[in-house]
Amino acid sequence: MPTVHLRPGHVQPVWTGHPWVFAQAIAKVDGPAPAGSAVDVLDPRGNFLGRGFFSPESAIPVRIVTRKHDEPLDDALLDQRVKAAVELRRAVLDLPNRETDGYRLIHAEGDGLPGLIVDAYGPVLAAQFLTIGMKKHSESLLRSLVAHTGATTVIEVASPRHQKIEGFEVREGPVFGPTVERLVFRERGFTWSIQPPGAPGGGGQKTGYYFDQRETRAAVEQLARGRRVLDLYSYVGGFSLASARGGATDVLAVDSSQFALDCAATTAEGAGFREKIRFQRGDARKVMAQLAEDNQRFDLVVLDPPKLAMGAKDLDEARGMYRKLNALACKLVAPGGLLVSCSCSQAMTGGEFLRVIATGARDVQRDATVLRLLGQPPDHLVPAAFPEGRYLKCVVARVG
Ligand code: SAH
Repeated sequence: MPTVHLRPGHVQPVWTGHPWVFAQAIAKVDGPAPAGSAVDVLDPRGNFLGRGFFSPESAIPVRIVTRKHDEPLDDALLDQRVKAAVELRRAVLDLPNRETDGYRLIHAEGDGLPGLIVDAYGPVLAAQFLTIGMKKHSESLLRSLVAHTGATTVIEVASPRHQKIEGFEVREGPVFGPTVERLVFRERGFTWSIQPPGAPGGGGQKTGYYFDQRETRAAVEQLARGRRVLDLYSYVGGFSLASARGGATDVLAVDSSQFALDCAATTAEGAGFREKIRFQRGDARKVMAQLAEDNQRFDLVVLDPPKLAMGAKDLDEARGMYRKLNALACKLVAPGGLLVSCSCSQAMTGGEFLRVIATGARDVQRDATVLRLLGQPPDHLVPAAFPEGRYLKCVVARVG
């Protein structure tokens, strides 16, 4: 077995349970280690720390899959992990249930399967491979997924950024079962129907939908009664629908994607809330500036931009962007109203995010007071030693 030797001073996080071995932590690699092969990770004294797949070109050359020396990293282990992920959702998280059958089925490191994301859309699964090692086991993983869930179709979804670094190609579409025209699923009783990513004429983002905001949508629903709501970066209107059902007087959804807004409108129609929600296509920043100029104010503003920091190197710039967006959003909050501000940038910590909200608010002579901190729901679980795995931060604040 090829072995990866760590440098002194780089052992502690891996020992504690952090699943990533960074390139700068590696002293040397013994033996031929082709991309995607299983490698053992040893501390500088030669003690076994764990075993994972090797990605030679990545800034994270090893993602640890097992910490048991006598556990081979093979199809049988991956099958056990898939089974455990499905069982956890069923037995502990009550997923799927009558209200919700769209959720994250496999959350990479959290499920002991780094490099693999699988979302469930009812009986259809959407799988995304992020490392060459997982991709190399895709056929057996597919069999496990179908065996443990009874899925009727599995589609593969590309992740161009990872594929470029890891060196593999993906043809988006079904890899098991018949083609599906639409991903049809329920979330908290709403029924969505979204064209899968890569569909002719345009399809959904990510694997199709953002399941990570389920709990924040529920929180917004509870806060919406009697309020005018602005849903910025609405995608297919998850927060808009929640607000409408929660009793908002009216909702304005803003997104740059016409596809997303059309899908939101169809969903709103089906749920009987079409007349409560207005849709505006445009750049959220420009729309915010225009609304401010027109003296429009809202009692609840949801701000959920796409990831603004791809990695640690973009953090400085991203802080500036978050600050500006939060300033613009605070301006639109009526005195004493609420702001629900989100960041899905893994590189930014919760503390830093609070700071950009605070400074953004002060930039427009307002004060933000935190009422609640929310984030990704438990189907997006993370190892305790992997704090940055909690990438989604949502702050419910009163803006005075
Ligand atoms: N709030 C959504 C998820 C948002 S994902 C939900 O609950 O599901 C980020 C969204 O931002 C995407 O829908 C994308 O189309 C949109 N977007 C990206 N850049 C934008 C811009 N400059 N202005 C407005 N929307 C933008």
